[in-house]
Amino acid sequence: MNIHEYQAKQLMREYGVPVSDGRVVLKAEEAKTAASELDGPVWVVKAQIHAGGRGKGHFKEASAGEKGGVRLTRSVEEAADEVQRMLGRTLVTHQSGPAGRTVNRIYIEEGAGIARELYLALLIDRKTSHIAFVCSTEGGMDIEEVAAKTPDRIVTFTVDPATGISGFHGRRVAFALGLEGRQVRQCVELVGRLYRLFVEKDAEMLEVNPLIVTDKGELRCLDAKMGFDSNALYRQPEILALRDETEEDPKELAASKFDLNYIALDGEIGCMVNGAGLAMATMDIIKLFGAEPANFLDVGGGATTEKVTEAFKIITSDPQVKGILINIFGGIMRCDVIAEGVIAAVKEVGLKVPLVVRLEGTNVELGKKILNESGLDVIAADDLADAAQKIVAAVKEYA
Ligand code: GDP
Ligand code: MN
Repeated sequence: MNIHEYQAKQLMREYGVPVSDGRVVLKAEEAKTAASELDGPVWVVKAQIHAGGRGKGHFKEASAGEKGGVRLTRSVEEAADEVQRMLGRTLVTHQSGPAGRTVNRIYIEEGAGIARELYLALLIDRKTSHIAFVCSTEGGMDIEEVAAKTPDRIVTFTVDPATGISGFHGRRVAFALGLEGRQVRQCVELVGRLYRLFVEKDAEMLEVNPLIVTDKGELRCLDAKMGFDSNALYRQPEILALRDETEEDPKELAASKFDLNYIALDGEIGCMVNGAGLAMATMDIIKLFGAEPANFLDVGGGATTEKVTEAFKIITSDPQVKGILINIFGGIMRCDVIAEGVIAAVKEVGLKVPLVVRLEGTNVELGKKILNESGLDVIAADDLADAAQKIVAAVKEYA
């Protein structure tokens, strides 16, 4: 789960990490009051969306020469005008996808004078199961671009959780960023605080781009992106409260409400499978026979008719889906429950695309019988390869 910049900065503030003073606004009328609570002479107006690259992004239906989602303004009035301009518009950045994101919140921040722009991120390194630091002197740019063009300017290292964070790590970051004098001490402190925030809140990603040296020689986090481990949210109510559902894929959101493991993908074949391993294998075999899966979906072991119905609704709500493959190996899950769920779902939402069903395992005969007698236009399959070939062929034929 990701959060907004202003929320990440609030967390940082709580951990004593240096950030600029700022106010979030949800309505244009609030902008003047919010901006006048901040000292000038520069007010930075920042669109809050869960995608980076806002500064270089563009609004849909922009007028000629109109700027992106991060603007430096010189008065309270100008800041309020920018808020008015951005609110409710769609901002497209290289991370948002071509559809862009609607701007519902704006952060107004006291402008900082910048001497240097640096890059600092904390991530989980899955290979070592450690937290990794990524540092670069090339701040304000995309780290992917830096990695492609000047990989020697990126320094990474990991922290052993057994020993934890120490001054040594902070000095290592400071050295990688070319800091000197009292900035080194500030950096050691900053690194320790960011690490503690990361661990205590079950973060998955924390990116500060840019981390700046101000014109007064102080370190400050000018931008902040944070993501959290969804599996840890049950013990992080304070983080969960920061969730912005308007930023999430509505299909993934619906799935999470029914405790379905669903991930939207780009292909044309909707999949309903039980078990993560079988779901992965199903996606692979769809690709093998020349099509692409529209989603990963594991309905889990003990799915009810209601859950199956919801899963089916989520799949059919995706306009990209040109065919559906249901692949169930009934162990704990019973094939008759799946069959009833499918029938209930089709009754509710209709079936406009070909449907292939492969059932195996517990109550398979009953499941097949229920489907056969339902009058539904179901293509039955015997095994995994047969099912994948049949749905790929059906989609090609109906296309
Ligand atoms: P992003 O485009 O989504 O990554 O948003 P950022 O928060 O990183 O802002 C983009 C750029 O705007 C930064 O790299 C800075 O160059 C500039 N910027 C942001 N805040 C300030 C500020 O307070 N003062 C100045 N001078 N520039 C700023
Ligand atoms: Mn940034």
